[in-house]
Amino acid sequence: MSNEYDVVVLGGGTGGYVAAIRASQLGMKVAVVEKDKLGGTCLHRGCIPSKALLRSAEVYHTLKNGAYYGVEVSDIGINFLRMQERKQEIVDQLHKGVQHLMKKGKIDVYEGTGRIMGPSIFSPQAGAINVEYTNGEAEILVPKFVLIATGSRPRTLPGLTIDKEAVITSDEALELKELPRSVLIIGGGVIGIEWASLFNDLGVDVEIVEYADRILPFEDEDISKEIARLFKKRKIKVHTGAKVLPETLSRGEGNVTIKAEQNGKELAFTAEKILVSVGRQANVEDIGMNNVDARIENGVIKVNEMYQTNEPHIYAIGDVIGGLQLAHVASHEGIVAVEHMAGLRPRPIDYTMVPKCTYSRPEVASVGLTETEARAKGYSVKIGKFSFRAIGKALVYGEYDGFVKFIADEKTNDVLGIHMIGPHVTDLIAEGALARVLDATPWEIAHTIHPHPTLSEIMGEAALAVDGKAIHS
Ligand code: FAD
Repeated sequence: MSNEYDVVVLGGGTGGYVAAIRASQLGMKVAVVEKDKLGGTCLHRGCIPSKALLRSAEVYHTLKNGAYYGVEVSDIGINFLRMQERKQEIVDQLHKGVQHLMKKGKIDVYEGTGRIMGPSIFSPQAGAINVEYTNGEAEILVPKFVLIATGSRPRTLPGLTIDKEAVITSDEALELKELPRSVLIIGGGVIGIEWASLFNDLGVDVEIVEYADRILPFEDEDISKEIARLFKKRKIKVHTGAKVLPETLSRGEGNVTIKAEQNGKELAFTAEKILVSVGRQANVEDIGMNNVDARIENGVIKVNEMYQTNEPHIYAIGDVIGGLQLAHVASHEGIVAVEHMAGLRPRPIDYTMVPKCTYSRPEVASVGLTETEARAKGYSVKIGKFSFRAIGKALVYGEYDGFVKFIADEKTNDVLGIHMIGPHVTDLIAEGALARVLDATPWEIAHTIHPHPTLSEIMGEAALAVDGKAIHS
């Protein structure tokens, strides 16, 4: 392969590989440099493996409740290794798919560590890329544009060392060979809540310690309250407003103890494992940022709305620029960035249109403003809420906890936010995202005919509820 490219993508995760495909569709000559595996965090340590395990946990939960459905099952057990094996089969299959897509798009993949070397006579603007291989060899790529998509890694609390045995992150949790008896989860954000749900369904004792005054603190308050209520019913202990004290960590036989401070009182937790899920740290180190004028601020690469860094030929997207660290955000940012490189005029992403999902049982999903955010922005809001208990398909399905909450602007009738908790809401939220993009009013959503019986009927009912006109309430 010739080493000159229109664009070299540094990092072949969801953001990077999708951007590479779009760039190739636009006729650009593209290379991806990946030091680990194409597919990145989402495919190997994030979205896909965690959802595969969550599905196994859900199947176990359903089978345990088989009698309710008139299905008599005996000798139900957990084969955790098989769950892990199935997870890996799915990951491997999708990994092959991404490799195939690279070939199909005639995208050159360099399996090494990439670093930006800075401008040279051959690449005066974007700067050459040095690719270093594990055998010590190296080669130089000469791009017109560089797209940094190096992602992120788990963060920990200052003073709390991840020993990968007793104190772990989601990376190690995904590789467990056997289930622990008990887990203390530090951090009640998306990742912490998903693991809490998964472990609890598999019979593990779970406690959550969260610094904020509620779990899922970025979601609407009603959603946080509902998930906390449902977790309590499942005997998941949740401690909010509690600050973990890393220096108190001590190890016993087969367990670890750590303390936290809550309202001036000390709480002590003992568990077989501590799972630290306190956010993600951008991978900005050791990629050659010091060789160029691109800026890092608050630990993430600073970009404009077309994802250009200070150096107009160097772009950055995905987890490495912070903001909403989600796979679908990374890939959309990647598409915008390469379209901009190609001279198109892509529309900047409106982050209030991005759906956010938590794949716990029940699931949580939202798009747009929470009620508190909408009021703080000065909107006078009207609320429509509808429970899954009045949706026939939810009863048929046997999972009817939760609701959908619409927040609309009283003056313009625009939908400002949609918040959901319940069965399959991570699929239902797509309609909410479309409603936001199309600036739909609750009336328009209510007059979209939703098939019966489906869970999607709740969208129409919650939209009607905004004006107190829901049919089944
Ligand atoms: P990454 O996917 O992290 O990819 C970056 C790639 O760059 C990696 O492959 C890395 O090896 C490579 N790289 C780094 N440095 C170099 C270098 N110098 N040279 C070459 N290669 C390099 N998001 C969702 O939307 N839905 C979910 O359900 C979801 N679940 C998640 C569950 C967990 C447990 C975790 C941890 C994350 C989850 N996420 C989810 C977040 C999602 O995985 C990330 O937002 C997404 O992967 C970001 O994509 P990216 O391309 O920016 O980075």
